[in-house]
Amino acid sequence: MTSSAQPRSGRHPERAAGAQVFARDRRLPDGAPLTYLERGGADRLRPDTRAGHLLCPLAECDDPRLSVRAGSRRDHFAHRPGAGGHGPETLAHHTAKQLIAAWLRHLYPQAALDVDSADIETGQRPDVLATFPDGYQVAYEVQFAHLTREQWQHRHDGYASASVKDVWLFGGRRYDRDPRGTHPPGARAVHTVFDAVLAARHPMLLISPFTEAVAAPAGGYVAHQLAVRDPAPRARAGAFALLDTWHPLHDVPATRGVIDIPGMRAELAAADALRAELLSEAQRRSASRPAPASGVERATVPGIGAGLDAPIPSDREFRERARQIRQRTEQGRSPGSRAARGSRQPALGERMGERPA
Ligand SMILES: [Zn+2]
Repeated sequence: MTSSAQPRSGRHPERAAGAQVFARDRRLPDGAPLTYLERGGADRLRPDTRAGHLLCPLAECDDPRLSVRAGSRRDHFAHRPGAGGHGPETLAHHTAKQLIAAWLRHLYPQAALDVDSADIETGQRPDVLATFPDGYQVAYEVQFAHLTREQWQHRHDGYASASVKDVWLFGGRRYDRDPRGTHPPGARAVHTVFDAVLAARHPMLLISPFTEAVAAPAGGYVAHQLAVRDPAPRARAGAFALLDTWHPLHDVPATRGVIDIPGMRAELAAADALRAELLSEAQRRSASRPAPASGVERATVPGIGAGLDAPIPSDREFRERARQIRQRTEQGRSPGSRAARGSRQPALGERMGERPA
């Protein structure tokens, strides 16, 4: 079965449409929020486009004059015939970061928002940077272009070193696509970059700019990666995540500037519990084995990449395991988790000062 048979799966009917919905009002100062064309808003903005007040905000636009269009497609801005022609990925990236900025502006009117305009101390320029009155900063990156695990890690480490919380949303044909072969309904392929993302205890987040929706696909592979935190796992062929629901961005809450998609925290908490179990299992296995020379092996077991060679659970296995963990948590402390917590090395994300979002 392929996901195209399932209307609620990861496909977007409008993905190919790519409507341009943001314009720059030339009467406003540089850096002012862009004007958003909402559904059915063409009539409201027509006078301003006719008067030439609203212009295409994309850099290197060959003719930024715009008109508004309504009709069979969602209301949108259009260039003069022959002008514009911005690539779908350029338009998707631009739209996604402006949507994130508008969403943050609505949630946090007290925060300063820089869209593509503020460098942090490492020289990195986030797509959107929110600076709160107390100085706390959250950087949003919306990624459509190619990115390797190593590049992601480098940029993530840069943000950590500058004490900037980073949030990554991925979209477009590279990151939001059907897995190869047969797969359950709603399955999305897990691009290799997500191995590093999940190993840093960041959720897998997708954004669909032209439907203005976000999603946090989950499932066995995602849970395993969040728990084991191997930034370059070998057993990943055909890895997929299950996407239940796209959430309209404007309905999604945030916690201290960090997007909080329904189900995301539960997924992270279940992965933490699974990690505690895997660590404690590894510790028990190691303790029951005769120690080689001087207990070296035992000392390395709770560390990253040592002793955590657990096979990737199937989605069904993971769900059963998560159910058991929840049950035990409700009854009291999960057995062994205290010992595991007491002796393990801090995880990658913890070492970098990250806290659960
Ligand atoms: Zn343009």
